[in-house]
Amino acid sequence: MHEEFDILIAGGGMVGGTLAAALANGPWRIGVIESRPFGAVDQPSFDERTIALAFGSRRILEAIGIWPALSKQAAPILHIHVSDSGHFGAAHVDAKEQNVQALGYVVANRLIGGALMPLLAHSKKVDLISPATLEASENEGESVGVRVRTPDGVRHLRARLLVAADGSFSPLRSDLKIPTREENYKQSAVIANVSVSHPAPGTAFERFTDSGPLALLPLGGERYSLVWTQRTETVEEIMALEDTEFLNALQLRFGWRMGRFLAVGKRSVYPLMLIRAERAWRDRTVLVGNALHSLHPVAGQGFNLALRDVAALVDVLTEADDPGDSKVLRRYQHLREPDMTRVIRFTDFLARVFARRAPFLGHVRAAGLLLADWNPLLNRLLARQNMGLAAGHPSRLLSGQEPIWRQN
Ligand SMILES: Cc1cc2nc3c(=O)[nH]c(=O)nc-3n(C[C@H](O)[C@H](O)[C@H](O)COP(=O)(O)OP(=O)(O)OC[C@H]3O[C@@H](n4cnc5c(N)ncnc54)[C@H](O)[C@@H]3O)c2cc1C
Repeated sequence: MHEEFDILIAGGGMVGGTLAAALANGPWRIGVIESRPFGAVDQPSFDERTIALAFGSRRILEAIGIWPALSKQAAPILHIHVSDSGHFGAAHVDAKEQNVQALGYVVANRLIGGALMPLLAHSKKVDLISPATLEASENEGESVGVRVRTPDGVRHLRARLLVAADGSFSPLRSDLKIPTREENYKQSAVIANVSVSHPAPGTAFERFTDSGPLALLPLGGERYSLVWTQRTETVEEIMALEDTEFLNALQLRFGWRMGRFLAVGKRSVYPLMLIRAERAWRDRTVLVGNALHSLHPVAGQGFNLALRDVAALVDVLTEADDPGDSKVLRRYQHLREPDMTRVIRFTDFLARVFARRAPFLGHVRAAGLLLADWNPLLNRLLARQNMGLAAGHPSRLLSGQEPIWRQN
């Protein structure tokens, strides 16, 4: 016996959870299959990281209804300062100049999980199937059958559309034999919260250093979230440093713009790769979030891009009679292609050019930063990119409006 759904989402992390919330007021019965118990401290998606949410992402979260639960603890980014250590030249982006309240917001992943779960748990349309691991799926023509393993045994589910929101190494993507383009950057991100003696309120820093790009995102007061990219061969060394040695190494790379680095919290490491699926759907399965594109975090774009996947998928689903129809999924791929290509190129370019220390590249980078600072058009483009407003397709969610369901 199969349990019947309209849409099954494999992966109830940042992206699967957000998609389920966006579909919660729609006409369909949704199931979210997640390996880790919801709310568990070791849930891998809602972990210690903080996310730089673009202004456009705020609009999407507003339309979905979870922004009020995040807004009080979301730290606004009012300025972005991009620089290259050892070279003259910096680019600045300013919220006032762009006529917006904030360029973006810094929010803890765990907080996003905390905002999503009550909404999903109270929805009459969403079933949380967890802990449960999707083991196999089979295209049955008009539907897709799914086998999940739970602590109480195997369950068989069926839906018209299966969404793969199962992360960078998506088992579903592999099962469907969807080819990927992969690039191992041979870099890892070290993340930690740090505090400084002279904070620059509301300023996010992106600094390109000889050991890799380093981002400091404001958390409010003297606290900052650090994302420091390291070459794989040096990451163990950095992680093994005592806190004071770590802070000294950071001080050396970042300089004294915010006075002295005073303290560092728990450090975690994430290996970095670019993984891009060469198509966004097959049979009745569609890919979103990291399953579709896993990016270098240098420009803080991964989740923001994924929210625009969610917005575009919701747009095409509002018009659909059959959510898994190939025409619907083809349209989704068509809408996502340009934004995805642009963001992947931009991120990949930054990850490569700013990681290399060839002397002439230093001058090119410095000239690029000066140009981006001085040229209003380039500055506006940089700002729109950072605000997540350069998406191309103007989805309803991205403009802050709730979806209108044709079937309701
Ligand atoms: C260091 C770092 C910093 C970042 N900073 C930013 C930033 O500032 N801004 C930004 O926009 N993005 C940022 N990102 C990117 C962002 O974290 C990701 O885009 C986002 O977490 C992707 O979420 P996801 O739900 O697609 O995948 P995941 O977070 O990997 O979630 C996948 C979920 O699927 C579940 N799952 C997997 N397989 C199965 C299965 N078979 N059955 C059931 N469940 C399954 C897992 O348990 C997990 O919960 C950063 C990433 C890193 C590594």
